[in-house]
Amino acid sequence: MTKNTPITELKGVGAKRAELYGKLGINTVGDLIFHFPRRYIDYSETVPVCEAVIGEHAVIKAMVIKKNNAARIRQGLVLYKIFAEDDNGDRFTIVFYNNRYAADALEEGGEYYFSGKVSGNLVRKEMNSPTVLKTSEENLLRPVYPLTEGLTAAMLITNISEVLKQADDEFFADPLPNDIRLEYSLAVLEFAIRSIHFPKDDHAAEIARKRLAFDELLKLQLGMIMIKNRTKTENSCKMSRQNVNMQKLYDSMAFELTGAQKRAVSDIINDMCGDSPMNRLIQGDVGSGKTAVAAAAAYFAAENGFQTALMAPTEILAAQHYKTLSELLVPLGIGVCLITGSMTKKQRTEALEGLASESRFVAVGTHALISETTVFKSLGLVITDEQHRFGVGQRAALAVKGNAPHKIVMSATPIPRTLAMIIYGDLDISVLNELPKGRSKIETFAVTAKLRERAFGFVKKQLDEGRQAYIVCPMIEESGSELAAAKEYAESLKKTVLAGYRTGLLHGKMPAAEKEKVMAGFKAHEIDLLVATTVVEVGVDVPNAAVMLIENADRFGLSQLHQLRGRVGRGKYQSYCVLIAGNVTEESRQRLEIMTKTSDGFEISEYDLKMRGAGDFFGNRQHGLPDLKIADIAADRELLAECQKAAKELLSISPDLSAFPRLKKETEELFGRNNNAAEAL
Ligand code: ADP
Ligand code: MG
Repeated sequence: MTKNTPITELKGVGAKRAELYGKLGINTVGDLIFHFPRRYIDYSETVPVCEAVIGEHAVIKAMVIKKNNAARIRQGLVLYKIFAEDDNGDRFTIVFYNNRYAADALEEGGEYYFSGKVSGNLVRKEMNSPTVLKTSEENLLRPVYPLTEGLTAAMLITNISEVLKQADDEFFADPLPNDIRLEYSLAVLEFAIRSIHFPKDDHAAEIARKRLAFDELLKLQLGMIMIKNRTKTENSCKMSRQNVNMQKLYDSMAFELTGAQKRAVSDIINDMCGDSPMNRLIQGDVGSGKTAVAAAAAYFAAENGFQTALMAPTEILAAQHYKTLSELLVPLGIGVCLITGSMTKKQRTEALEGLASESRFVAVGTHALISETTVFKSLGLVITDEQHRFGVGQRAALAVKGNAPHKIVMSATPIPRTLAMIIYGDLDISVLNELPKGRSKIETFAVTAKLRERAFGFVKKQLDEGRQAYIVCPMIEESGSELAAAKEYAESLKKTVLAGYRTGLLHGKMPAAEKEKVMAGFKAHEIDLLVATTVVEVGVDVPNAAVMLIENADRFGLSQLHQLRGRVGRGKYQSYCVLIAGNVTEESRQRLEIMTKTSDGFEISEYDLKMRGAGDFFGNRQHGLPDLKIADIAADRELLAECQKAAKELLSISPDLSAFPRLKKETEELFGRNNNAAEAL
């Protein structure tokens, strides 16, 4: 039997079961062997009936004492009730629906382990459709597989056992060179594969998992490094430091750059003067001053006769960047234009003319920058702000507008470095790990809705002192309209101490021009209180705003709250963030407390990652990574660091992996499962 043997050649696998396997992506016996258990049930950890907690999983060892006849409850629903008794003589009921096979397998007088969720009440406990194991079984550690309806764990176990009995050597041929395997204390592949399905004990299961997760993360890291090496082409927008006086720009800035900003600018200049195009991520917490770094990069490019495109995810942000860059660069003789979807034809034509004719030019815009009508004369640098908002494809589309321009992506989502190396494995990274001087910590309070009145009183005090405030209003339920909810909320403020202040409304469904008007009004302090949905989330900069009040704060992710909080504390005033929790559970209380304790974005994201897991954390971000079967890039961080070391070792021996043909093939296969990444590889 080889890895490529079709699944249908296994005993008991006909067309029907093969179709079910197909749903899980399993077509060959090789696929089946690499379908790993999610966890194990340890049938030796039993509880007596009296201690089984209702609502929780348990394993109960009991003897079947009576089986009721099948009862037809209604059309298509047959109930099987079985009564069992544990060693203490306590009884409980086992229930199966429409599963005659499971019910028939139990014999009166037979002793079994039953594993499942306990239900019922204190008088009569029940277990609905438990998994069952005979007490005569020797191996009590049993795998739990991802399944699909119609496919049971028992079927999988039978099929996998058959494969493991008949597998040829090819199944277990190790992709890792032996010395690497020993260096990182990893099990041999055969042991890992056999033990992941049928471990002798907990320890064996853990060793097996470690080995298989290591392989997966290693291939991921190898693939990313190879992509990076392969994209190193000729630098066709080569720049030079000669005749560029950066000091001229710095002199016109209102502040001195932080050390971290200077280092980032210097990384960027080195890259643009180097032998291959720049591909750099600027990672900096909210307020770390990424825009100034972008301005410096654009200035350097312009002085070298290259145009820059700066793409922002929202019109508000694009307008803000446009303003900042115009103020800085236009006096230095560099043209700046704004290109967004909502501008008039005349404005657009003017902007496009500049782009097509002037080299010392910067275009700021939204994704409208990518539209076909936008033609650049000499695009040399593409900067994408808040890059996680854009897909890989949108970034690529913009780069095509020039001849292999340099690329910078800027992100305010702090990600621990080992993770960034995977997710942005194809990029070099500069971290802005230093906030501009003179920023005081934003004082953060988490309160329950009961204290809302007092919180409003606090906001009022700040407004009376001449500050401005944001209120992020409750999130919209699926059905309701965002506009209505925001309006209603703003209206309700009129019955509070916040009545009478100049109040603006900002929400996602608003036409862009209107948003801009409101934002401009807030910036000009024609508005005191800005009631907004989360559109204020990214990048908006109003130094006089000193309070951020967030309703239903418990519904946001911590990283998102951190982003929102970053909207204040941007000027010289002590700033505050008030988190109002609608629904307080112990868990949400703990989460919000983190916000009151730290303002370090890395720490917050670390916690967020731990709480939510990698799936949710990266969920809707199009990071374009291959799917992982067993490793978890968040939970397996230590292992990931080891893999990164091993990957470097392997590539230093053989840069294209040709010395490790099996590893190379498997790496390509891993990336082959995913289109984005496969294209890049
Ligand atoms: P972000 O990294 O969140 O995009 P911004 O670029 O919007 O941050 O900068 C936040 C604020 O800090 C802006 O008002 C900007 O003018 C100011 N700023 C940036 N760099 C410095 C600095 N080195 N010193 C003082 N203020 C700075
Ligand atoms: Mg920004």
